[in-house]
Amino acid sequence: MSGKQDIRPVRVLPEDVANKIAAGEVVERPASVVKELLENSLDAGASRIIVRLVAAGRRTIEVIDNGHGMSEQDALLAIERHATSKIRKAEDIDNIVTMGFRGEALPSIASVSRFELVTRRAKDEHATRIRIEGGVLRDVSQTSAPPGTRVTVNRLYFNTPVRAKFLKGITTELSQSIDIVQRHALSSPGVAFQFVHNEKLLFDIPENTTLVDRIALLWGLGFAEDLVELHGEGAGLTFVGYIGTPSLTRSARTHQYLFFNGRPVVNRSLQYGFEDGYRGLLTVGRRPVGIIMISASPRLVDVNIHPSKREIRFRDEQAARQALREAVRKRLEQLTRVAEPSRVSSERNETGSESTIEVSRESFTSPMAGAPGRDRWETQPPEAVPRAPAPGIQPALDPLPPAQTEFAGVRAAPEREEAPHVEPRAFHASLGRVGEVPMQIFDTYLLVPEEDRLLIIDQHALHERLTYDNLLADLQDSDYEAQQLIVPILIDVPPSYVKVLQEHFELFRKLGIEIEPFGGNTFQVTALCHLYEDSAIPNVVHRVLDTLAQGDLFNQEEIVSDLLRLTVEACRSSVKGGDRLSPEERRELLEGFRRLRPPYTCPHGRPIITELTQLQMEKSFRRRQ
Ligand code: ADP
Ligand code: MG
Repeated sequence: MSGKQDIRPVRVLPEDVANKIAAGEVVERPASVVKELLENSLDAGASRIIVRLVAAGRRTIEVIDNGHGMSEQDALLAIERHATSKIRKAEDIDNIVTMGFRGEALPSIASVSRFELVTRRAKDEHATRIRIEGGVLRDVSQTSAPPGTRVTVNRLYFNTPVRAKFLKGITTELSQSIDIVQRHALSSPGVAFQFVHNEKLLFDIPENTTLVDRIALLWGLGFAEDLVELHGEGAGLTFVGYIGTPSLTRSARTHQYLFFNGRPVVNRSLQYGFEDGYRGLLTVGRRPVGIIMISASPRLVDVNIHPSKREIRFRDEQAARQALREAVRKRLEQLTRVAEPSRVSSERNETGSESTIEVSRESFTSPMAGAPGRDRWETQPPEAVPRAPAPGIQPALDPLPPAQTEFAGVRAAPEREEAPHVEPRAFHASLGRVGEVPMQIFDTYLLVPEEDRLLIIDQHALHERLTYDNLLADLQDSDYEAQQLIVPILIDVPPSYVKVLQEHFELFRKLGIEIEPFGGNTFQVTALCHLYEDSAIPNVVHRVLDTLAQGDLFNQEEIVSDLLRLTVEACRSSVKGGDRLSPEERRELLEGFRRLRPPYTCPHGRPIITELTQLQMEKSFRRRQ
């Protein structure tokens, strides 16, 4: 940020520059106001920023900084349209390093609110106070205030009621503002951030805390412990940050934070590149977690395509995607090892083929493991990972798909990464004769020959599904009734979620999870529906909170199925791939399959059954074309 060393006076943009810059909506919602004000404070070289909201910003949004402040003359200019201290000539636009540069945030905000700006430079004796109501300048006066700037935005959209109607609920609006502040808190390590909502301090990040400490302050120690450091480069980009081990995932992309040259950004190619790096390592529907700082010459990107400047576009999008994918991949390869042939895991990759990837927990070095641990991965040379696998050893990860495939879009969009499609109608059929014992191969699959095809069932996937269905049926009978726990389960939640959790005790209670405050960020589960697995609870509570904080439509069924899924996972009795089964067990499983209703997938969405048809076989033997 150039703020500190170079205080330029505010000036009105010449018209051609103003026109060259895409104009657009600045003030979409409270969070957009928070973002603009925050970025101005950072541009002003602030080292302490307080964001204060009342009623999720609908009533009040206030941002207070200790930045360089403005003279009275500059403050008056700042509220004029296209007044900015950050650009003089059109060419400057390519070299922007500050956050804001269009000079329209303050006037736009002031035109739809009751707006007050109080600002003072350290060298001035008095502060300037400017009040604007719905775009009308009401008052300019002198007042006393510490050096820095305070912008207060009251009653946003009071004069545009239609706009106000489009605002979402408090939780949604609040979580969006929290998200904005969190992003900045992650990318500005030298700056202290406080976030206050309805006079409650939601988070408090001191100045000069490291990135990983900031992460821990925002999302908890457990989260930070499952991250590993990332260092990589390619295509003129440098990547530095923390990425989750494959065991740390979310059901949405809530914890994927990308920053470009210190600014939070959105870019699909990077996002896909990041997720591509985890290909084959995550269960269907799970999203990896990462906080990645990307740096490069600003000339490599076009930052101005989105009016709120969050979206960036690279001159070469594919190269950027590939570079990040490879950096992530390389890092993850350091965590994986080839499973011994006797312990082939039944984990499937997204092509549905058997994969021998096994992630070794021991090889994860947590960033929170203290200073020695941190040194260890900083000094761990990337060469420690063999580039080409020795002959006879399987590569730890699938080779990357060729670039052409990506262009063809075949595997490009992660949304399309689904379990291989299996015709559902196909398996309604007789499925062999009742009472028959299916054959087992590779200690993992059951074979059921039929007239014109061979059905192949994944025993583990099937068993999981049956367990899941049974639990679900039991649950429907017992009505989520919670039973008192002898030892309560303690759950730590990130400070930003404390409020969200408190507001949803009733919801959890309805699901058979009774939660009470324990003090600070800690809560205790005192009673639990007996069907849930105890150890799954903290995980589920976090997931529910993520969903709630995102403001996603809350779906009770999904939460319950999440709970059960985790319970099934924790089920020791589960039949695993690699278990030799007795004829009795095999027959029972097959009977279970007959009772199933489509879709024929396990609780994680992996297929249970596939088929090899007579036609396919005949083709392989060239008996047919
Ligand atoms: P932009 O940030 O695009 O220049 P804004 O409308 O956000 O436009 O702000 C206009 C000008 O007001 C800025 O260029 C800056 O000089 C000044 N300004 C705004 N907020 C602050 C602040 N918190 N501290 C110091 N100066 C500020
Ligand atoms: Mg600005």
